[in-house]
Order: sequence, then C-alpha cells, then structure tokens
Amino acid sequence: MRACSIIGNRAIRAGLASCLMLLGCLVTRAASAADCPGHPDAIGTSRTLVVDPREHPRIGTMQYPETLPLADHEVVLTFDDGPLPRNSNKVLQILADQCVKATFFLIGEQARANPEGVRKLVAAGHTIGTHSEHHPLSFEKMPIDKVKEEVDQGIASVSAALSDPSVIAPFFRIPGLLRAPDVEDYLASKGIQTWSADFLADDWRRISSARVADLAIKRLEAKHKGILLLHDIQARTVAALPTILQEMKARGYRIVQVVPATPERPATPTEPEQWQLHPTSETVPIARWPKVPGFVFAETGMLAAPALSDFDVPDGRLLLTAEPFDRVRRAGQHVPWPRQTTLSPQNAAVTLPVPAASLFKIPEKTRAMLQPFPVVARRADQTQSIAQQTKPEAKPHAAIAGARALPKRAAAKPRTRVAHGVHQAKPHRS
Ligand SMILES: [Zn+2]
Repeated sequence: MRACSIIGNRAIRAGLASCLMLLGCLVTRAASAADCPGHPDAIGTSRTLVVDPREHPRIGTMQYPETLPLADHEVVLTFDDGPLPRNSNKVLQILADQCVKATFFLIGEQARANPEGVRKLVAAGHTIGTHSEHHPLSFEKMPIDKVKEEVDQGIASVSAALSDPSVIAPFFRIPGLLRAPDVEDYLASKGIQTWSADFLADDWRRISSARVADLAIKRLEAKHKGILLLHDIQARTVAALPTILQEMKARGYRIVQVVPATPERPATPTEPEQWQLHPTSETVPIARWPKVPGFVFAETGMLAAPALSDFDVPDGRLLLTAEPFDRVRRAGQHVPWPRQTTLSPQNAAVTLPVPAASLFKIPEKTRAMLQPFPVVARRADQTQSIAQQTKPEAKPHAAIAGARALPKRAAAKPRTRVAHGVHQAKPHRS
C-alpha cells in the first residue's frame, strides 16, 4: 500500500514537473520572439534551466550516464577555449542577433590576455564556465596537485577579469575531455559540475564551415536534443554558426540557457529520469538504441587528420577518454543507460561510447585551411539535402560540402577503432 502511494506520488510529481516545464517553455518562447527586436527570424532562447551541480556532478552522454534534463528538441550551446577577440566577438554578435544565450568555457590564460572579452560575455548574459588555466591535454594522467592548480588558477584568472566573480558558474569542461576519476572527484568536492557533451561538430578539425554545420545538424538530428560543443575561437565556427542556428530553428529546435542554482535561485524541478538522454521505458523500444550513438563513430572513422586551430591555443584537437562505467559500478548504482544494452556484433563496432584515442594520433598541420565565409541562408532544397544525408549512415562522405577539403593522405588512410576507447591519447602539441 505504501509502495503504491510512493509510486503514485512520484508519477504525480513527474507529471507536474513535465507540465511546469511545458508551461515554462510556452511562456518563455512567446517572450523570446518579442525579446529579439529587429530580428523576427531569430531562434531566441526558449527557457533558462537552473541546475544544482552537487546533485548532478557529471553531465554529457559522450562520457557520462547523465546529461542535462532537456525536453525533446531542446539544445544547449557551449563554446570552449575563448575568449579570443578576433573570433569570439563575431560569435557574440551572431548570438546577439539571434537572441541566443550560451555557455562559454574559458581558458584562464585567455581570460588574462583578454579580460574585456570575459566582461563582454557577462554583459551579454551568457553563462561563464571555466576550462583550466593553460589547457593542458594531460588531465587524465596529471598529478592531482597539478590538476588542482590548473582548475583553481583557471577560475582565478577568469575571476580577475570581473568585478563580481560570483557570476562565474561552477561549470568546468576538462580540456580535451580527458577525464579521470580523480579530476572529477576534485571538481565535485568543490561543487563544480563536470561538463562533457552530447555531440560535437568537429570544428577544431581542418574541415569546411559547411561541414561543421552539417555535422552539428546531423548529430543533433540523431539525438533530438543535447549539449553541443563548439569553439568560439575558430573562424570556421564563426562561419558555420548562422547556418547552424537557422537550421535548428527550421527544424523546430529550441535553445536553452543553463545557469547554476543559488540560494536565491533554486534548481528547476526535475525527475531523475530526465537526466538521461533517452531513458528506457515501456514506451521507448530498446531496439532504437543502437542507431543513436552510431553517428559519432561512423563519422570520426573517416574524418581527416585533426588540424591545429588557427590560433596557438592548444586545442587543435579534442581528445576523449573512456566512459566512467567503473565509477557507476563502484557506487553500486543501477544506471539504465542504453549503451549498456546488448548490441548485435555488426552494430557494436559503431556504437562504442567514445572514439578511440588513436584516431587523433595524426600529424598535424600548423595552420588550418579556412574557408571563406560561405554562410548563406539555406534554401529548402539544402535543408532537404541535409535530411537525406542524415538517413543513411553508410555513405557519410557523399554530398558533404567539406569532403573535398580532406587531405588525400588522411582520406585514404583507414582508421583503426579501439574497443571502448580505453586507450588514452598521447597529447601532441606542435
Ligand atoms: Zn578546449
């Protein structure tokens, strides 16, 4: 009897939370159109999601069982490695024109070099997280004292640019996504939320801006919602961003801003299952799962060699580490993550949770080949083109604008996938 009562209450609470979320969406969506004067076609920001980092210390399904509690067709935009005035300011203008609020993960030394850039982000109302002091691509093997130094100094450097450092969110993205339990534990001990991502657009690679936009939309369409990781320091991202936002709006996606909970601003009510990208249930057939993450690996398996950015920040590549399943098992929790479901052998190869680190062990060029700004408003036929690309996973090269930019050497060289991505990449700066 008591169990029934608990279940009943939980169902009611879940229903209530969903209703509140829907109501909030409707109200804020109506407001967002009115709040973007002069830009009637802006996608706007549909709502603000308040999260408590202590309740959900690690998010992003590329590496963790949980992600942000987004509704279907909701997207959170994140930008790493800034501020770099040359390109970050352009990203800021594009976001302003679209009335979009995003989360920026700033590098400490960048903030010290461009404190005005940090202040511009805050003035524009974006969420500010941090991304270490020097962006070392070795967090997964760094002594914990060095990790602490990188994290703390990064926050201090961003704080130094601001008159009110309390506006900095306790959000941290590990450089290269090179996660390690000690790093995550340290961040959690400070009440800082570790942000991975739900999908990438490979904008740090030497690909065209059109390709970046295509990847962003294709991967979003595969998951229907989630956290997109971009880099505001990249010229190709500047060029791709208007197209990405236009496509998102055309396809009915909505932008959500995420802010941390404070004593005056309580967390948005959610249920535990909302923190899973697609929780399994009686109404969600498990058979759909193998298709969902496959695009990440189908795509990375044929991508060109990673390119250095056009800037000296050492984020010319993005490295990934293994899923923290060990942590979940250690805690004795049952996390019904879809990727733990049994897959057929032919699907298993493309549904691994993280790209093998060896994919990134490619000699890098010192300069990215940047396309001129080919941003044009997408016509209906282009939209259809992307939709067609999204369907078959088998021929990702076909009809992709950026494919011609692939170096022949890289295009011809087959990639080796390493099961479960447990091999750590050897960071390679140039
Ligand atoms: Zn980075």
